[in-house]
Amino acid sequence: MSALQPVSGKSHAAGNETYDVVVVGAGFAGMYMLHRLRGLGLTVRVYEQGGDVGGTWYWNRYPGARCDVESMQYSYSFSDELQQEWDWSERYAPQPEILKYASHVADRFKLRPDIALNTRVDRASFDESGNTWQVTTSDGNTVIAKYVVLATGCLSNARMPDINGLAGFKGKVYHTGHWPHEPVDFTGLRVAVIGTGSSGIQSVPVIAGQADHLTVFQRTANFSIPAHNASLTSEEREAFRAKYPEVRRFAREEARNGIYTEMPDRGALEDGDNERRAKYEARWAYGGLTFMAVYNNLALDKAANDTAADFVREKIAEIVKDPKTAKLLQPNNHPIGSKRICVDTDYFATFNRPNVTLVDIRSNPIEEILPNAVRRNGPRGPKPISA
Ligand SMILES: Cc1cc2nc3c(=O)[nH]c(=O)nc-3n(C[C@H](O)[C@H](O)[C@H](O)COP(=O)(O)OP(=O)(O)OC[C@H]3O[C@@H](n4cnc5c(N)ncnc54)[C@H](O)[C@@H]3O)c2cc1C
Repeated sequence: MSALQPVSGKSHAAGNETYDVVVVGAGFAGMYMLHRLRGLGLTVRVYEQGGDVGGTWYWNRYPGARCDVESMQYSYSFSDELQQEWDWSERYAPQPEILKYASHVADRFKLRPDIALNTRVDRASFDESGNTWQVTTSDGNTVIAKYVVLATGCLSNARMPDINGLAGFKGKVYHTGHWPHEPVDFTGLRVAVIGTGSSGIQSVPVIAGQADHLTVFQRTANFSIPAHNASLTSEEREAFRAKYPEVRRFAREEARNGIYTEMPDRGALEDGDNERRAKYEARWAYGGLTFMAVYNNLALDKAANDTAADFVREKIAEIVKDPKTAKLLQPNNHPIGSKRICVDTDYFATFNRPNVTLVDIRSNPIEEILPNAVRRNGPRGPKPISA
């Protein structure tokens, strides 16, 4: 018997519903799981703690949230009809559009009847005698399943950092991964953003455009490449759709990171300075994550990697007018691409705005949050920064 033959069908045994598979999470992975498993003739129940499908895109509603793999690729490949009919509006779709897409997929493939929303899986215990799982949910129900699939993702359970005094802050506190559903308007406010990973890098330019003043607290400077986001024309969408079979095949079978791009046949040190610089310039102008594909050894050879990292550091110094701020923004403690590089819209240029201040919390870490300020410590004692 193959591992995934139907074992039971949905039934009621001793008051407990029984399924072949319980899937936890209705993000992109959980929805696809449901579609595939149903196609195999299995009975499936999906539990999702959120109020709708979409996972990451349901929770991460912060200003500037969008994908950084281009939308024509950051989309399901299992249905050619779906990928031929869905119109992405921009090269990198914003969060609301990706959430709408997830909702469309749930409706189009009639997934909703098998998904229980607002229902958290609290416990799954394996019953050795029956070789089945007993899955208990937040509504007090227990169901029985032969298989449990955890499609719980990695970016949907926000963790509030444990900073002294945070609970006593008198202003509003938001977490990018657990953003309110109603719009948040920072107009006229003094705002502090703590963290300069991908979410910080996406949200800082948007918040800076609204806030009276924005203070950005940076522990680690990260490499970021401009997105050069733009609307997609119908001609661009059609041209991409025509090559979908090859794009998807390449992403699955050949690409190192699932992204469709050319595979360079040269290493960075095989080109002279001018030629190398011209290639980096061209890729910077194109934008996006394929920056790491300019050469075939950027992830393998530190000396090669340094040429790309130096190029990005030079770009930061060119964009950011204040030399001290530019220096702080230049990543210096990891090779480029060793952490996922970020993709931004005007991130570095935002630090030229008069209403934006960058604060280094690597050298002087945050000590505590006061009712109306952030206090960091350092060799010269506490420094309150009003936020
Ligand atoms: C702003 C942003 C941009 C991104 N851009 C890209 C990109 O361009 N390319 C890319 O490849 N990836 C990107 N990602 C990563 C993204 O998380 C994944 O692409 C993808 O959405 C993950 O889907 P998933 O279904 O595996 O998990 P998730 O989307 O995290 O879904 C997991 C679901 O499980 C639910 N869950 C968890 N525990 C329980 C429980 N106990 N009971 C019930 N439900 C539970 C959660 O509520 C959640 O809805 C991005 C992420 C963010 C935040």
